Amino acid sequence: MNEHDSERMLALLEGCGYRETKHVEEADVMLVNTCTVREKPEQKAYSMVGRFQQLKEDNPHAIIGITGCVAQQEGERLLGRIPALDFVLGPGKIHKLPEILRDAEKGKRGTCSVGFENGCPTNLPTPHTAQLRAYVTIMQGCDNFCSYCIVPTVRGRERSRPSAAILAEIETLIRQGTKEITLLGQNVNSYAKHTPGELTFPQLLAKIDEIPGLERIRFTTSHPKDLTEETIEAFGYVEHLCEHLHLPFQAGSNAVLERMNRGHTREEYLAQIKKVREVSPQMGITADVMVGFPAEEEEDFDQTLELIRRVEFDGLFSFKYSPRPGTRAARWKGECTPEVKQRRLEILQGLQRGITLKKNKELEGSVKEILVEGRSRNSPHTMRGRTRCNRIVNFPGGSDLVGALVFVKIAKGLQNSLRGERCG
Ligand code: SAM
Ligand code: SF4
Repeated sequence: MNEHDSERMLALLEGCGYRETKHVEEADVMLVNTCTVREKPEQKAYSMVGRFQQLKEDNPHAIIGITGCVAQQEGERLLGRIPALDFVLGPGKIHKLPEILRDAEKGKRGTCSVGFENGCPTNLPTPHTAQLRAYVTIMQGCDNFCSYCIVPTVRGRERSRPSAAILAEIETLIRQGTKEITLLGQNVNSYAKHTPGELTFPQLLAKIDEIPGLERIRFTTSHPKDLTEETIEAFGYVEHLCEHLHLPFQAGSNAVLERMNRGHTREEYLAQIKKVREVSPQMGITADVMVGFPAEEEEDFDQTLELIRRVEFDGLFSFKYSPRPGTRAARWKGECTPEVKQRRLEILQGLQRGITLKKNKELEGSVKEILVEGRSRNSPHTMRGRTRCNRIVNFPGGSDLVGALVFVKIAKGLQNSLRGERCG
């Protein structure tokens, strides 16, 4: 989501006559697009602003802005705390960036624009540069209020974009060369839940599938509570919908899930995974999980490990719980010590590494359709692409293949990727 917001801000900056530089010392505008979902990214953002502040000593006309969720969370306080800061811009006000910059160029500094507009999310410009794989926002915000999560506070209530605007944006992207789109939202399964007469999420997928020139469709993130049978069934008939589902489960213990206010049990989660695999046996399944939630006991953690063994995820994003300001869980007693969190995280990640490697090895000998993205990082004669189930594949080939769909026979399953030979 933040990456996508950064792309949109870049497009707005280009519209104001700015150009991207890879060298921060050359920059006249420095934006730190922040995330506050956990403590660590927030701290990283502050240290980056500190670095930009030093650069401003050599270029006093430079403009520094904090954008994103820390901007929404802290607002005006940031201007008081960081003297070199010129503006603060929340994620619901990105469209105001050109106006704020024009003012800052004229010397009007110290603006704070945060909050959310009612109704549907604002349409923002599509980046002009051709993107093989592009994100398309279909909804913003979240109404779920999981007890640990700051997203509803810093991204606002759920708002869905009209399907006509989504389809038009995808058509524009395809004309510019996009082959794969990822539909984005904090909870895509509740798309247009509050908009009578609008397409449902699976209907939207079917409509997107009809757009000529689009090769692949993905979506993220799904919430187990809102993932309907109709959406699961869409994997069986929406031709360009890739066999990849990211379905966070957060914890394997019902007691913890209840305190998290997730609205589903481990049994319901497992039943959904079973159904998904019935509809699409090749499905790559990934998830988010947390360790060290307040009062998480060893038995609760064991149930998380047991669920991971049972599902055999293709990959996991695993996090140590960190209290976030204003959330309910931040007020609760029983926080696990940093040592406990670290140990549980290491055990969990070790278990998942073994499963990922095993599943990658199981693919040896199979033939997979790959969308070629570019050169491999390690060798100039090797190309890199992705399977429909979202695995990275490296294979010998030339850069003329970028953007092509090719078939590759998998020769080797490694920890983080696959290696193969082109066969069509
Ligand atoms: N909307 C998505 C969902 O419900 O699954 C995820 C949104 S959140 C930006 C991404 C992930 O961050 C969550 O799935 C959760 O695992 C993790 N997360 C959220 N709040 C956290 C916290 N306070 N501490 C640690 N991890 C957190
Ligand atoms: Fe946060 Fe829960 Fe909403 Fe996901 S569903 S964004 S974890 S409140």
